[in-house]
Amino acid sequence: MDRLRSPEASGFGPSGSRAGRQRYDAWRDIPSSQWLSVRWQLQNTVRTAADVGRLLPLSDAEQASIDRLGQSYRFAVTPYYFSLIDPEDPHDPIRRMIVPSIEEEVDLELGEVDPLGEKADQVAPGLTHRYPDRVLFVVTSFCTSYCRFCIRKRNWRGSDAARSTEEVDQALAYIRSHPEIRDVLVSGGDPLTLPLSQLEYVLRGIREIPHVEIVRIGSREPVMLPMRIEPELVAMLERYSPLWVNTHFNHPNELTQEAAAAIDRLLRAGIPVNNQSVLLAGVNDSLEVMKALVQGLLRIRVRPYYLYHCDDVKGTAHLRTSIRRGLEILEGLRGHTTGFAVPTYVVDAPDGGGKIPLMPNYLVSQGERTLVLRNFEGVLVSVADEAPVAAAAKINGDGQLRRRRTRRPAQSVSDLLADESQRLVPAGLPHYERREALRSEPETAGAAASVSPAARPEPPSTPAPRTPRTPRTRRAARDLRVIQGS
Ligand code: SF4
Repeated sequence: MDRLRSPEASGFGPSGSRAGRQRYDAWRDIPSSQWLSVRWQLQNTVRTAADVGRLLPLSDAEQASIDRLGQSYRFAVTPYYFSLIDPEDPHDPIRRMIVPSIEEEVDLELGEVDPLGEKADQVAPGLTHRYPDRVLFVVTSFCTSYCRFCIRKRNWRGSDAARSTEEVDQALAYIRSHPEIRDVLVSGGDPLTLPLSQLEYVLRGIREIPHVEIVRIGSREPVMLPMRIEPELVAMLERYSPLWVNTHFNHPNELTQEAAAAIDRLLRAGIPVNNQSVLLAGVNDSLEVMKALVQGLLRIRVRPYYLYHCDDVKGTAHLRTSIRRGLEILEGLRGHTTGFAVPTYVVDAPDGGGKIPLMPNYLVSQGERTLVLRNFEGVLVSVADEAPVAAAAKINGDGQLRRRRTRRPAQSVSDLLADESQRLVPAGLPHYERREALRSEPETAGAAASVSPAARPEPPSTPAPRTPRTPRTRRAARDLRVIQGS
């Protein structure tokens, strides 16, 4: 059971010493048929400090803390997900997300029980109506593994039972009576843990409402128990298209072959899969990890959709980081990797204010008719901020077209605002050095490569003098050949 690898992510996934999935000694002899069985995984879920103590080195204080925390917020981890933890690393990112820690116990003094104020917008059992055209329907509080940072951990204290038929019917009646609702997000807990007949009852009920256009399912099962994405489940989901799955990978070590296979089953059934990550200190709050995660997601054809700032949930202060950190990571992604690998970074406003998207500031200054913008390299450019004016309106008294002023190299943002110059480029940018080099070697750069062999003129008997080749121009020419596939 290998984690997916890439050159960029070589620091993650199996290292030479941990090749393949580590089956802890306790599970080493379990046949694959059992390991891949949902029933076996649930029957062997890790639930107590004693269970953890058999798998990881734990101090007495840690054991006691896990036991105490288990009383207030449920603890359970499937063997599959637990096996992603490196037992030799006390700071392992998967462990931080899933195993209670002494820090969590201290942090119980801080944070909110319901930081997003979901209860305040609850219009029927489990049904939150906050945004104009969509609702959230929490159909169960059960998950096969419980994340310590979950915004709905308040629900774990009660029963983990799914909504009763009467409760589901009440929620469906609300949706039916509100024609503005076109999108229903079915979440939990994890809706994909429900028995198929129960989940199908919910989906069929939603689908029968004519004004509901799409159904979304929020599930971490592809990450925590990918064997649950079984053919029967997928076939049932396929019947309720258009249906989207939002899943939740937080770290590249979660990108295993099993997870990729689960995603593949969904995609082959025409179910698009997006990812929502949570920014967590010590888990994914570095550019290196986040880049490996989003690029790994693209390799398994999952689109990184949201990066949530971690909400102020009780017991999670040790997992929260600053918004500045999130923006710094975004700065390192935008322009530096595939555009659709870059998630939208959102802060959920307290008390049900909704999602607020944030990004680094690319608007540097604004004048009456000109904006100064910044690109990912730090190049400042002036951009006209006025509707295009027809050429006729630009004719001078002498009948000539008014030309833009001659541009000179910019010295400042003020020059850009005054439209004296178009860009201000930091020194040493490889992109501009390459351009410069290409300009000094035009015959390699464009003409020769773009003219078909048949149309190319015969070479003159006496070759034209060439621009002397420097290492830089040679490199530029080579880069160009690579781009042009020659
Ligand atoms: S899987 Fe989702 S709902 Fe369940 S504990 Fe984790 S974050 Fe919460």
